[in-house]
Amino acid sequence: MKTVKIKKGWQFKITGKPSQRIEERPANTYVASLPEKIPFVKPRLHVQKGDNVKIGSVLFEDKKHSDLKFLSPGSGRISDINYGPRRVIQEVVIALDDNETHEPFNVYSEPVLDEIDRNTLISRLMSGGMWPFIRQLPFRQIADPDFLPNAVWVTLGSADPFQPSAQVYLKDQADFFESGIKAIRRLADTVSICRYDETSDKNDSAANMVTHRILGKYPASDPGVVLYHTKKTASENQDWYIDGQDVIHIGKFLKTGAYPTDRIVSFSDGSSENSFHLKTRMGVRLNDLVSRKTDNQYKRWIVGGVLSGYMSTFDNFLDLYHTSIMIIEESHESELFGFVRPGSKKLSNSRTVLSAASSEPLSINSDMHGEKRPCVNCGYCANICPVDIMPQFTYKSIDADEIEEALAYGLLDCVECGLCSFVCPSKIELSDFLINAKHRYHKELNQIV
Ligand code: SF4
Ligand code: SF4
Repeated sequence: MKTVKIKKGWQFKITGKPSQRIEERPANTYVASLPEKIPFVKPRLHVQKGDNVKIGSVLFEDKKHSDLKFLSPGSGRISDINYGPRRVIQEVVIALDDNETHEPFNVYSEPVLDEIDRNTLISRLMSGGMWPFIRQLPFRQIADPDFLPNAVWVTLGSADPFQPSAQVYLKDQADFFESGIKAIRRLADTVSICRYDETSDKNDSAANMVTHRILGKYPASDPGVVLYHTKKTASENQDWYIDGQDVIHIGKFLKTGAYPTDRIVSFSDGSSENSFHLKTRMGVRLNDLVSRKTDNQYKRWIVGGVLSGYMSTFDNFLDLYHTSIMIIEESHESELFGFVRPGSKKLSNSRTVLSAASSEPLSINSDMHGEKRPCVNCGYCANICPVDIMPQFTYKSIDADEIEEALAYGLLDCVECGLCSFVCPSKIELSDFLINAKHRYHKELNQIV
């Protein structure tokens, strides 16, 4: 087993790390699929309002790859199809039946999985809604089935303590995890199973399969970071990756012949008593995840991680990829003479703030502690970036429309962790800027090809 130690990053110091406790939170009445949250996919709908669907019925496909299907996480009636600006399909909402039914898929025994032909497997995973879980670096789009990667990276555990613990989602799922890995081994010659060491149990079912032990601060466990620090040739830049929980889904799909909809989600409201893991399902309405409903409606919901996730609300649904929910206080009050206060309660990476002297976790709210200003060339963003980009210069190149220069600074190595924005004293949303530029560049490339 190799040990990979990542030096740069940020040690989380936020209250409310989810405990290993699991509570059941089924979906109450509705679930939804969110095409808008699947990067680079142009959906072509297979259903309309009022249609009846089963779990695993096709809701939409990708216009560019019609074999790539996205399936229903619930059985019932399509109650709404919600559109955003420019007719972007945001949500396909399903009103759940009391007795849900499944579409049947093929069941594969272990010996068949050992022998299955790569193209057949890809075709089954694409039609069975499993392929979107396999993603491709550096753009993080759904893996191109016509491409043969050097390796598939499997991620177990996270350096972000607010993401689901591998120990929790692996519990009682060893067989499915092993079957999922067996299938993934048919896709590439190398499968690297990376365990982030501080969150995982060394004796769980995956222990003897791990190939890389990852050490370091956030975002050390990100496959893009691990690849950046281990790759030997540029051809590895397009390797594939998948989260451990999704490997279990693939194993379950192949072994049971049903589209699996269960999800382990980490949940935190900043307190120790209300921060734990939830056993729920894909596409659940966020409000179904909390027991105390009313006051949470007026707070900020963050899906996918406090530094790299997005803002949501209690009546939105869980998207296909994200499995962490955090609720924080909204704060719009400016602190009187905040700039001369010592900042003993202020979460910051700066050593000029008193809280830097303590490792005590701090509670957070939505307050930005200031507004956007010009860059002061402090270098904080470059000092923390885990893949050695100089975000301040990359940002200026993008701003000047010099994409080649931004690429030379390492734009494509950006792992979208959000740390540069977090540490910037000028409140420049560097990571958003870089991510948008990466997306634009990807679209440009695809028009050329
Ligand atoms: S540029 Fe920013 S978002 Fe990208 S990897 Fe570096 S710190 Fe993370
Ligand atoms: S952290 Fe912000 S202010 Fe400092 S160099 Fe980077 S972009 Fe400029």
